[in-house]
Amino acid sequence: MEMKDRVAQLTAARQQLVRQMPDPSSILPGSLLSRMVRCNKPGCRFCVKDKGKGHGSIWILSVSLGSRQVRQIPIPRELKKEVEESLRAFARMQKLVKQIGQVNLEQLKERKRRQQ
Ligand SMILES: [Zn+2]
Repeated sequence: MEMKDRVAQLTAARQQLVRQMPDPSSILPGSLLSRMVRCNKPGCRFCVKDKGKGHGSIWILSVSLGSRQVRQIPIPRELKKEVEESLRAFARMQKLVKQIGQVNLEQLKERKRRQQ
């Protein structure tokens, strides 16, 4: 009886986690960083070698493609907020997926115990 309660508790915990899942259609991987850029136009005072700081800063979405490959995508200012929200949704989703996996592992253990 007690074990059955534990399984039910875990099911309830899992439902709670599933309910917190963000809309998966909005998620974006990667991280946002800001960077100065050089225009390479001759005589540009912002880009003078060793002195100029370049232009910007601009926002870059840095996405790991695996095997040490990274894709860097410039993000227009007007899209920054949306991209940030999508990155947060991705991170939240990953966290929840891990937690749900843990609950399911725990539940599997309980169910095996019940069969013994
Ligand atoms: Zn320049």
